[in-house]
Amino acid sequence: MQVGHMTYQDLGLDSAELVELLAYPRRKMRDNMDVRFCPHAAFYNPVDERCIYCHQDTECKWLNHNDEMVAIEGKSTADIQRELTKAMDYVEAQLTAAHLNRRACTCDNCAWLVKVRQVLAISV
Ligand SMILES: [Zn+2]
Repeated sequence: MQVGHMTYQDLGLDSAELVELLAYPRRKMRDNMDVRFCPHAAFYNPVDERCIYCHQDTECKWLNHNDEMVAIEGKSTADIQRELTKAMDYVEAQLTAAHLNRRACTCDNCAWLVKVRQVLAISV
């Protein structure tokens, strides 16, 4: 076991599971984002103040940081935990009140949230 290099495997995940966990919120954010007026085709630019003050900056930063082309092998546990937590907040914010009252809901959002909470709880 390597010391000082924690990766997604320390979260009890294999790479396919992590890819799947990140794919769900990525798809949701992409579907919900309005990029008609984006001057950068949704590539976040930290030096452009239009990006800094954009109302979609949270999603945009997440998507750029968690693009499927970015290798997950090099990512630290802390990075993955932080990004999954952000994605969890995003998905939770989309749940309607009526929906939250349902016990053991099996919709896509809730099924994904259950998985993410398990992953984050194991590692905390
Ligand atoms: Zn649900």
